[in-house]
Amino acid sequence: AKVLGKARYEVFNPGMYTNALVRLQLENDLRRAIERHEFQLYYQPIVSITNGRILGFEALLRWQHPERGLICPTDFIPLAEETGLIVKIGYWALHEACRQMQNWRLSDRINSLEKISVNLSVKQFSQPDLIEQIGEILHSTGLDAGSLMLEITESAILENGDEANAALSELRKMGIELSIDDFGTGYSSLGRLHNFPISVLKIDRSFVSPIDGNGKNLEIIETIITLAHKLGMDVTAEGVETKEQLAFLRNLNCECGQGYFFSRPLDNAAAVELILKNPQ
Ligand code: C2E
Ligand code: CA
Ligand code: CA
Ligand code: CA
Repeated sequence: AKVLGKARYEVFNPGMYTNALVRLQLENDLRRAIERHEFQLYYQPIVSITNGRILGFEALLRWQHPERGLICPTDFIPLAEETGLIVKIGYWALHEACRQMQNWRLSDRINSLEKISVNLSVKQFSQPDLIEQIGEILHSTGLDAGSLMLEITESAILENGDEANAALSELRKMGIELSIDDFGTGYSSLGRLHNFPISVLKIDRSFVSPIDGNGKNLEIIETIITLAHKLGMDVTAEGVETKEQLAFLRNLNCECGQGYFFSRPLDNAAAVELILKNPQ
């Protein structure tokens, strides 16, 4: 929102949600955004740290607002969560990501891409028809379950307890892969999470950024990676921005990286261009 100018910044300052009128207007706009085709997905590559190959893309929502321009998810996801609209928006994103991935799959110039990663919100995660809906999406887009990775935050998993475990096991049985998003920002320990059928741990950017700076955080990130490996998980580091960070992560045998060092999130056309340039 910072780049959108002062007037708009005020509209989307989260503190302004307490302004009932602003909130209502934004909620109204959000409610109609799907039918009006205002959402779009951007794709950010997830790259193998050992060989530089793009293994997958994470699908990230963008809202092209008719008056306000491109709005980033941090400026509308909280409201979408609060109002429950995230469920519908989340399914739209999942469907669109699977459709796009299947399109890429079918184009013979792009066959190296292994996974499409999609974010699943807490609210979506606690829907009783979650499994059915996801099955439906895979069926209608024709994408094989093994190409889909769902990203779930640790709090979503732990808040939902036993039910979460049941849902995750069901998804895993379908062949879908699961990753823990933003790891390190919650209060959970890896020990608690390792009972869940999760194959990838994504370390939050806040642990990756300080790599260039002080030594204290280095021990934390090293511990997380070592422990994840002991528990049989692969690790993806978020927010890789420098070659120093990359070198450090490589030394710790971190499998994958994601961040501006490799690429910003891209629209469909730019994402295709990037894969075609990537060593295959
Ligand atoms: P996230 O899942 O942690 O996604 C990564 C965010 O970090 C993205 O922000 C991405 O653009 C940004 N990022 C990637 N590399 C770098 C880097 O090197 N440096 C910095 N500073 N940032 C980097 P984005 O696209 O604004 O998304 C923000 C959050 O919104 C996501 O965080 C995710 O929690 C949520 N979100 C996005 N799309 C969806 C969706 O379809 N469904 C749900 N439920 N949430 C979504
Ligand atoms: Ca994510
Ligand atoms: Ca994340
Ligand atoms: Ca994050």
